[in-house]
Amino acid sequence: MEIESVRVVRLSVPMSGSFGSAHHRDFTTMESVLVVLDTGDGVRGVGTADATPGYSVQTHDDIEASLRSEILPSLLGDPPAHPNGLLACLAQFETAPNAACAVEMAYLDAYCRRRGERLTDLLWGTTRRQLPLNGWVGIGDPGQMADDARSWKERGYESLKIKLSGEPIRDIERVRAVCKAVGDSVAVRADVNAGYTVDEAIRVARAVEDLPVVHLEQPVAKADLDGLARVTAATSTSIMADECIITPADALDVIRREAADRIKIKILRMGGVLRTRQVLDAAALAGVECVLGHGFGLTPATSAELQLAAAHDNVFGPVESVGPLKMTGEPFDSLTIEAGRATLPDGPGLGIELREGEDALDEYATSAWRITP
Ligand SMILES: [Mg+2]
Repeated sequence: MEIESVRVVRLSVPMSGSFGSAHHRDFTTMESVLVVLDTGDGVRGVGTADATPGYSVQTHDDIEASLRSEILPSLLGDPPAHPNGLLACLAQFETAPNAACAVEMAYLDAYCRRRGERLTDLLWGTTRRQLPLNGWVGIGDPGQMADDARSWKERGYESLKIKLSGEPIRDIERVRAVCKAVGDSVAVRADVNAGYTVDEAIRVARAVEDLPVVHLEQPVAKADLDGLARVTAATSTSIMADECIITPADALDVIRREAADRIKIKILRMGGVLRTRQVLDAAALAGVECVLGHGFGLTPATSAELQLAAAHDNVFGPVESVGPLKMTGEPFDSLTIEAGRATLPDGPGLGIELREGEDALDEYATSAWRITP
């Protein structure tokens, strides 16, 4: 595929509130690196690397630097003719998975558009056009979190994730309050973001065994896989691994060691859609379900993850790709999300259009540069 140029734009997108978790108490603006790939025959592909401060392995400065000095010169020097060629090219950049994800997304978007196919067609197809989404409740006092959960339920969501702070007694109160408010009809996931010691994690997991909690997510430090396995073995509450999975190899490690009942994967961390697909396939062979999605991602990444989820049976739904719900606006056509369900776009590739005209982008762009072969 001939590539005429690649534009890299730093975006700053205001969010509709402050979204607290154990990683960031005050998070009101989503930064992202947008990659716009123009082919020689007039087709455009877009991809984003929506890194989260304190959580993603690369900062936005790291992402830009690896795009500028390594990935894009390599891509433009010998443009791959097909997705397998792209995978081979990106294999050199495993230490820059977030940058690779944005490049892969833009490449696959353009590749599919040239063929008039959706991304799901490239992923062997799907009959699903709508996917339920998972709601998201940030850290607050138990009553406020219960109110937030009720409002998600009223908007049609049948599943939601609540963020916990790593304070065991307070967190148990939070889980109890939310389950009491909506647990009869809404599946509740609880995410600790690595906030507990192993003993604390076992105590909390056991304390919520009588509640309809779907799983407790990453209760212990990301480096402590043995500790995670101990928690998983010690409770009937399902445990999900998240932060400890930084690479596809880490996902295999968790599966092999049975360190968790379920794993969380996201395209930004795995280095793109195709690498994530490999993990999904490996997990399927092991009989392990995967939660797919991000807390903070823009519309292109959301479309990519939804299309990937639609094409795989072992994605534990609903999908957690709910970033667009937190943004006040984006320089892309929006996805249709109604009553807790996202409709897959009809158009080719990601099915997402970058709003035309520099003004549309100017509202969000803080810097931009272009590279040509
Ligand atoms: Mg998590």
